[in-house]
Amino acid sequence: MSDVTEMQLLKWHGQLLLLNFLMFMSWRPCRGLNVPNYGSTYRANPTRRSGVFASVRDPAYYDEYQPSGPKPLSQDQRRSKLTAISNPDFYFPPDPEADLAEANEPEPVFERQKSKATPGSFSYNPKDKNGPSHWYRVDARCGGRYQSPILLNTSNAQLVTRKRPLRLDGQTNLPQSILLQNDGHSAKFTYNWRNGDRPVLRGGPLKTKYLFEQFHFHWGVNSTVGSEHVYDYQRYPMEIHLVFYNGLYESFQDAREQVDGIAVVGLFYEIYQHSVDEQLNTWTRFLRNIVTPDSEFTIPFIDTFPLYEVIGDIEWPYFSYEGSLTTPPCLETVTWIVATKPLLVTEKEMKQFRRLQSSTGQMVNNYRPVQKLNHRRVFLY
Ligand SMILES: [Zn+2]
Repeated sequence: MSDVTEMQLLKWHGQLLLLNFLMFMSWRPCRGLNVPNYGSTYRANPTRRSGVFASVRDPAYYDEYQPSGPKPLSQDQRRSKLTAISNPDFYFPPDPEADLAEANEPEPVFERQKSKATPGSFSYNPKDKNGPSHWYRVDARCGGRYQSPILLNTSNAQLVTRKRPLRLDGQTNLPQSILLQNDGHSAKFTYNWRNGDRPVLRGGPLKTKYLFEQFHFHWGVNSTVGSEHVYDYQRYPMEIHLVFYNGLYESFQDAREQVDGIAVVGLFYEIYQHSVDEQLNTWTRFLRNIVTPDSEFTIPFIDTFPLYEVIGDIEWPYFSYEGSLTTPPCLETVTWIVATKPLLVTEKEMKQFRRLQSSTGQMVNNYRPVQKLNHRRVFLY
């Protein structure tokens, strides 16, 4: 072999070694890093929500999570899922007995009455011109891609294993008074606080402090429907929403327009089967004061009750996702926190809710149909 060929071989050998070394170096730092695999669809999605979703990269509390493995569905679950997909506007698990009971009940008043639609008003009746599928005409933002409520499924949620505890400070504080309102769509309790007494929600998926504003309810004409979120293909008879606004902003009105402005804690209610007539929630007795639409009632200090009396300890596992207000203007500025453990209510108390009137009749079924997920992630804490 000539010297020239030998030198050429040596040169090639050196280049090969260098190439191997460079490939190794570029591969090495990626190895072993637990980098969440964000779907390209969502990264390529050029909406302002991407800014908020970027927060899930915060290593402080998202550095370890595992997608819970898909569990095989039972035949019943598959059937439920099919129903959910085929009819997203009106969904609850097939229950022939409940259907029969509903069929035998007198037709709810709101079905028979003509809607008196005024500009800007909205209706929950799917047959109305301003019903849920037309809310985008009431406010274009209701046609957005990140709307609420949604289907919450344990099998599709990202399990967050390392989490900061969710805390509600001031839960036992008493307000000066409570303003109870029938706003035509719900029963709303707004607390009037002394300076510094306003309860504060923090931790969990929230990066800052959120201040308590009000709570209200969504319920059904009977106890097979009512909740807005659907948890593992089940609708509950009622859902409470505790609305908080980001303490970075001056007021709820200011905050609700901001991308990180609102946090809503949602809890389901299930029927307490052991006693039909018991009054489990002392505060439901105030509902009789706001039966007529657009009426209000001030609960004096002596009769006020703390948030603790409404929802108890917040120690349940919960779903969290980025969504919207569930009524027009449907602003997509809400971090949702939905508890997996339901509260209790009796049929007697549900009757007190169903006695309330809206401008078009009985105030029932004031829940919005579930909305499309559109590549959002749902986390389970
Ligand atoms: Zn609500």
